[in-house]
Amino acid sequence: MAKHIFVTGGVTSSLGKGIIAASLAKLLQARGLRVTIQKFDPYINVDPGTLNPYEHGECYVTEDGAETDLDLGHYERFLNIFTSQSNNVTTGRIYQTVINKEREGAFLGKTVQVVPHITDEIKRRMLLLGTTGQYDIIITELGGTVGDIESLPFIEALRQLQWELPEEDTVVVHLTLIPYLKAAKELKTKPTQHSIKMLSQEGVHPDIIVCRTEKTLTPDLRRKIALFCNVKQEAVIEAADAPTIYEVPLAMMREKLDLICLKKLNITDFHEPDLQKWKEVLDKLKYPKSQVTIGLIGKYIELQDAYKSILEAFVHAGALNECKVQIQNVHSEFITPENVGEKLANLDGLLVAPGFGHRGVEGKILAVKYARENKLPFFGICLGMQMAVIEFARNVLGLKDAHSTEMNKDTPDPVIDLMEEQKAVTSKGGTMRLGAYSCETIEGSLARQIYNKEIISERHRHRWEFNNRYLNQFQEAGMITSGKNVESQLVEIVELPSHPFFIGVQYHPELKSTVENPHPIFVNFVKAAKEYTEKKATVKNPLLQSEMI
Ligand code: GLN
Repeated sequence: MAKHIFVTGGVTSSLGKGIIAASLAKLLQARGLRVTIQKFDPYINVDPGTLNPYEHGECYVTEDGAETDLDLGHYERFLNIFTSQSNNVTTGRIYQTVINKEREGAFLGKTVQVVPHITDEIKRRMLLLGTTGQYDIIITELGGTVGDIESLPFIEALRQLQWELPEEDTVVVHLTLIPYLKAAKELKTKPTQHSIKMLSQEGVHPDIIVCRTEKTLTPDLRRKIALFCNVKQEAVIEAADAPTIYEVPLAMMREKLDLICLKKLNITDFHEPDLQKWKEVLDKLKYPKSQVTIGLIGKYIELQDAYKSILEAFVHAGALNECKVQIQNVHSEFITPENVGEKLANLDGLLVAPGFGHRGVEGKILAVKYARENKLPFFGICLGMQMAVIEFARNVLGLKDAHSTEMNKDTPDPVIDLMEEQKAVTSKGGTMRLGAYSCETIEGSLARQIYNKEIISERHRHRWEFNNRYLNQFQEAGMITSGKNVESQLVEIVELPSHPFFIGVQYHPELKSTVENPHPIFVNFVKAAKEYTEKKATVKNPLLQSEMI
């Protein structure tokens, strides 16, 4: 049986519970322990797949095809392990399970109630991964903020578990905010005191308090928090704002967060943390030797969380290339034939983002055209790949009204069409083509060169696909399909061999990029952008050009 660390949050949302949980997990993993993280979300959606990215940020897809919270992306990126359906549980899923059981007659004769039936199901899920024998420690992040109505059953389940499990099997870490009042020139502990009080009223007492703060916590302040909140002074941990999230494990190590947890859990079998590779990446991140600007063309750009995994994949790929990747967000809705050149002029590479629905697609198509014609490195993901196909159909094949049937049901040339298996699907949640599928890359292609492998496996989240009816037309005109799923013949990768770097993928490579294993397409795309900018410099500067000769 594994031991458990629970992470709760107080005062406000967006304090970065996911990053703290992932950082702690990283440290424990670096000390030789087998760790995983799970997230419990208090909303009633069965999973976040049906949520608009504006509401909840990106929907992260696991290998086994679960549509999950974006924090699972952080867990995978930090730990370099796969998570699964079991790592993300919502109130909706808990209730669904209990209600289904009730209908099956599992509670015959009984009144089904929040306590004990809902809390029993929460506890069962909290302990589930720990019973597999695969882990020494399970970190459970409780979504929401203490005091919210919806998180009550989760806190109650945690209260019960704290009593039911041996004392040395659980640790509760509470993440809170210590705001700095400029006018008073002071850090304030009152909101934290209230948050701990609220948690205590609900029957849970934290062992460790992690304080998000803009300024250093003085020993006096730590003493005060310890005194008012009933924890040892060494268990008051400072989590100051960091220049990158990947610094946080090191900051937590300096504060001994991992050691305090291990002590409480009575775990003695661990070694000094091996963070060699992690630190190397951080060094490269801190001291880049070059810089490129990549345009991110999307319609959710106001909310950075909507493209979280893509942005992080660029951080990983940038570090490997020792290159700072500057992201320039370009709202696809505002790109017009008149302004496209001006909007994209300073870019060294262009990424067209995934998405759904017709809003902003014409701008995406214009951006692809610009990249194709100007030999600007291009990378299209999912909808971005579909846009590249439509652009090619319209402007190279001359199929003026070509489109995806997602946007125009009556297009005369449905070069992107609904997958056959999707035609009978009516319900929305969890019904797309989801999770890992394999793909065969063809010899001599850019894809094969990038992956250096014949069979690859990537994660998916889509309903539409390249229409194979048009395959010959595309190939003859110079857009090749360099990757396909062998069983279904579904086109997974398209590219333009006549272009220095032009690749569109139906899957989501960003979901598999981790700090220690950056994704090869992102790595090669950044490399292509670097080459593009170097070439630009030589063209602009004839002196450099003659030196080159
Ligand atoms: N809307 C497109 C489809 O369902 C693309 C989805 C995506 O970009 N994730 O096929």
